[in-house]
Amino acid sequence: MSSLWPAGSRRVLVVGIDGVRLDLLDELHTPHLDSVAAAGFLARVEVDDATPTMSGPCWATIVTGVGVAKHGVFGNHLGGNRLDVFPDFTTRLAAVHRRRTFAAGGWEPLFLARSGGPLFAAPGRLSYIAPLEDTPEAWEVCDERVTAEAAFVLGRSDDDPQASFVYLGAVDETAHFLGCGEEYRRSIEAADVRLGRLLDAVRSRPSYADEEWTVIVVTDHGHVDAGGHGGRSDLERTAWIAAQGPGILPGAPVLPLHHTDVAAHVYAALEIVPDPHWTLDGRPFTPAADPALLPV
Ligand SMILES: [Zn+2]
Repeated sequence: MSSLWPAGSRRVLVVGIDGVRLDLLDELHTPHLDSVAAAGFLARVEVDDATPTMSGPCWATIVTGVGVAKHGVFGNHLGGNRLDVFPDFTTRLAAVHRRRTFAAGGWEPLFLARSGGPLFAAPGRLSYIAPLEDTPEAWEVCDERVTAEAAFVLGRSDDDPQASFVYLGAVDETAHFLGCGEEYRRSIEAADVRLGRLLDAVRSRPSYADEEWTVIVVTDHGHVDAGGHGGRSDLERTAWIAAQGPGILPGAPVLPLHHTDVAAHVYAALEIVPDPHWTLDGRPFTPAADPALLPV
């Protein structure tokens, strides 16, 4: 049995919050997302013309670093995909780089062999926690349990995942059931509280002082006012990425970002230069974070 790669000091946490409208963030109380943005950036991302504004294809693009033409996920049924060729970063890092990785959440196709999934094929540790029913309330409970589980794993220095993805789905579910009104806004604020608990877990690690963490928070698409997405309106196509970490200067002007940049940045944050055969479509958020551009 081969051993795992020495950990080094770099760690990455990606928190995916489904269906959060960028235009509402300014008026909501989201101090933890604001803290990530203040230490780095929060920037608009446009879902590109080839990609349906649906969760399946957008999350596949975010975690593989390639677009729909390569990963082949075009809807919320993930069947017919090429994820074996273009795996998510938790699977690739575990298989190719022997890194400890972790993925957690409650939406079946991301984690289970259902609906053509899983998107996360083989992370080192995987926590799927099912919502008890398909309602906003049950999804809040689900996200709560996902957060508790992820905080437990992230807070331990012995398990020590070097790259993690935590999925929160209640915000999107709330918009689908109730539209983008008061309940939706409260759900975004609840997701921010959960983000805060994940950040607290990271900072409470016994080895935190010796580690360099990158935190990425990302949404997949927006919603029309009545709730719903899949079309080409600006509200549906507008997503966002926030990030802080090594190589990301506070307030740094950023080039137009793409969902494919998330996985590319995860590799960069772990100081891994992508193999050209991976044919990543994304690039690290900032040139300063790109190990391929560092002098040798
Ligand atoms: Zn979604």
